[in-house]
Amino acid sequence: MNNAVELVKVSKSYHGNRHRETLAVDCLNLNIKTGEFFSLLGPSGCGKTTTLRMIAGFESPTSGEIYIHKQAMNHHPPFHRPVNTVFQNYALFPHLTVSENIAFGLEMENLPRPEIRQRISEALELVQLTNLQNRYPRQLSGGQQQRVALARALVKQPKVLLFDEPLGALDLKLRKEMQLELKQMQKRLGITFIYVTHDQEEALTMSDRIGVMNEGKLLQVGTPVEIYEYPKTRFVADFIGESNILTGRVTQHQNYQINLLVDEQLSLSVASQTEVFPGQILTLVIRPEKVGIFSENNGQNNNFQGIIEESIYLGTDTRYRVKLTPNTSIIIRQQNLQRDRTQQYAVGETVNLFISAENISLLVE
Ligand code: ATP
Repeated sequence: MNNAVELVKVSKSYHGNRHRETLAVDCLNLNIKTGEFFSLLGPSGCGKTTTLRMIAGFESPTSGEIYIHKQAMNHHPPFHRPVNTVFQNYALFPHLTVSENIAFGLEMENLPRPEIRQRISEALELVQLTNLQNRYPRQLSGGQQQRVALARALVKQPKVLLFDEPLGALDLKLRKEMQLELKQMQKRLGITFIYVTHDQEEALTMSDRIGVMNEGKLLQVGTPVEIYEYPKTRFVADFIGESNILTGRVTQHQNYQINLLVDEQLSLSVASQTEVFPGQILTLVIRPEKVGIFSENNGQNNNFQGIIEESIYLGTDTRYRVKLTPNTSIIIRQQNLQRDRTQQYAVGETVNLFISAENISLLVE
């Protein structure tokens, strides 16, 4: 598949006060495929907006090259790039109606009137705002304003659409609705979407692939399943979902099966594709929902006893903290499949835990 956007060793530093430099983006290599929904995900200040702004042309890289559909873009101003950006604050003109806001960019291009009219009506239909076309932005809800901003970007028929936290100002319910709408629209139109967010759930729900950033660096790129189920670094494991991160010493290894000792006490079997040596210290990640919790020991490997230290009822599931050794507790989430609360475990109760070897990730750091 062709690459829609390619970043080759792209860095950006800003000069701050007293000649201090901030390295906002640090040697980023990234290929975004044509027609994919790609999210840049990371905490505040990790450099995702700067990356997006460099693709849009609002910032120039300090070093490195940016290509859009194989064309070098470094010296192209924003309006000469085949991209459009949808911002979080919508940036609508308050004195223009919905239609006029959408028409604005096309009028700047001096397109013939009938074509402008045709394209506006298509865009309005696409975002389901045909009946509100004569309203002003102040007469619209947040979600509707967001749709106008989207229509204004779509009407220009860009090959690549860039989104900077576009749903940040919406309440949770509307946000979830818009996530699905955006995803469906992207699939229908086949436009490449590059979407900046700090919300891991949003990235997991919407994206074909996600690039996780921290401190200017791209730490891992993969599908939502790859990122969630096979995190490669402690940061990714911690930032996306909840994780139990343990360290263990290798006691045995054979045929990609490793035995580890955690806290010199808990023996764990883990599957591994890489060579390890006895005595090596490894970091492992266990997702809370991958641990089974039972009243009785079922006699398999990776079976431990623990004591419930905390139990929090969360509706769909219950989150337990279970003490395994004097130094190690782990978090477990168990789905509440029954209404019956006697199925739950109480604080102080001794329970048996089971973790399948395939459900434990080893970190490469
Ligand atoms: P957020 O989610 O808060 O928008 P972000 O991940 O998008 O964060 P950036 O806005 O790209 O992060 O910022 C990355 C780093 O670069 C931060 O340390 C920020 O303070 C710095 N930075 C961004 N823009 C400028 C600027 N114009 N001048 C100086 N420093 C900047």
